[in-house]
Amino acid sequence: MKIYNSLSKQLEDFKPIESGLVKMYCCGPTVYMHPHIGNWRLFSLSDFVYRALRFNGYKVDFVMNMTDVGHLFEEQGNPEGGEDKIEKQAVEEGKSAKEIVDFYIKEFLKGYKDLNLSEPRKFTRATEYVDDQIDLIATLEEKGYTYETSDGVYFDTSKFSSYGELSGLTVENIKEGARIDPNPEKKNPTDFALWKFSPTSKKRQQEWQSPWGIGFPGWHLECSAMVLSELGDTIDIHLGGEDLKMIHHQNEIAQSECATGKKFVNYWIHSAFLMVDAGKMSKSLGNFYTLSEVVNKGFNPLDLRYLYMTAHYRTPLNFTWEALSSAQNSLNKIYEIVGSYEQDPKAEISDKYIKKFREKLEDDFNTPEALAVVWELLKSAIPEDSKLNTILKMDEFLGLKLQEHIGYEIPNNIIDLAKMRREYRRNGIWDKADVIRKQILGMGYIVEDTPSGEFKVKKKF
Ligand SMILES: [Zn+2]
Repeated sequence: MKIYNSLSKQLEDFKPIESGLVKMYCCGPTVYMHPHIGNWRLFSLSDFVYRALRFNGYKVDFVMNMTDVGHLFEEQGNPEGGEDKIEKQAVEEGKSAKEIVDFYIKEFLKGYKDLNLSEPRKFTRATEYVDDQIDLIATLEEKGYTYETSDGVYFDTSKFSSYGELSGLTVENIKEGARIDPNPEKKNPTDFALWKFSPTSKKRQQEWQSPWGIGFPGWHLECSAMVLSELGDTIDIHLGGEDLKMIHHQNEIAQSECATGKKFVNYWIHSAFLMVDAGKMSKSLGNFYTLSEVVNKGFNPLDLRYLYMTAHYRTPLNFTWEALSSAQNSLNKIYEIVGSYEQDPKAEISDKYIKKFREKLEDDFNTPEALAVVWELLKSAIPEDSKLNTILKMDEFLGLKLQEHIGYEIPNNIIDLAKMRREYRRNGIWDKADVIRKQILGMGYIVEDTPSGEFKVKKKF
């Protein structure tokens, strides 16, 4: 299996630490709003990676987090920031932070199911790992990587010699830029908060005691703490959106490797952006689409899943409603074709097509080419019952719920016409039998004769 590793910036042969088992982590949602279709692209990618590994016979120990505290605007490089998104949303909706978090977690899980994404072993919630986060800061402090300012405990990035390996932003080259640092107490512009003190002026809804004072953990810290406590010091695969690479993931590496003295992640996988109408998706442009908007426009969430598969994950995906319609048409066509096949559990699965399909998945999760193999199979000359069993096997990866579309009803009037035709044929009235055959064809069905003199009706595609 070949995986493009964002750290080495090249395709690498995949070799898990433990033979046959893959430890995998994906940065999950911040649960203060509905995820948009760009977020779902990443979560779908984590499912594609998960299913591709399973398809290749690996066991996968998969963990995804939910950020339910302390996600500051400032930490995403917004110098205006410092506001906690969850607490801000709570004020806006007139609810408590807990109510906001509980509500959006429920919504997230619903969308997750609708897109048929594989559940991780555990969805870890940051607030359930505050003790682990405090322990991690204490370790880093003991090893001399931290310093305190008036608003929190910071990580000194100048003490981690390989800082910038993933992001390309080093302590030196960022200093050369004209960037205005929002926090003059920071020793280096790349330094980041491990622990933030609660403001003295107002009480936060989510805050904890720590050896450094009452406050809450920095956002980057939670992922390190959850990975280390759930999966171990070194994991195989870490996934996230491209926007997390520069700061969040670089900081995860710094904290984790300084604390453990070991390599944190062997393969970094980043999903490219999703654009809308060839531009940026934003609330102000009114093109900030969520899954419920997709469903309200009459689409099946799996149409979106299919659309995600039509683009390679490292290529920006341009979302348009036309593109989604075209994905819908393709998927419906597959459902129709699959529905027209008769199932025989004993029919052979085509090794040739499964091999070809697997090779595409092994090639850095090349989903568009894997879909092309699906279409090649459907158009091939192999027997239909074999095609059906083969595509059902592929659906272990595709996750398009093909099983639900097997077998469809032929309308009664078509069956009646076919019976009439059979009578004509039995009586040797070939011309009238042929007229009915054409009539049935005009109604969208194909009637075929079996060697025993019976008939078979199929939908025409
Ligand atoms: Zn993360």
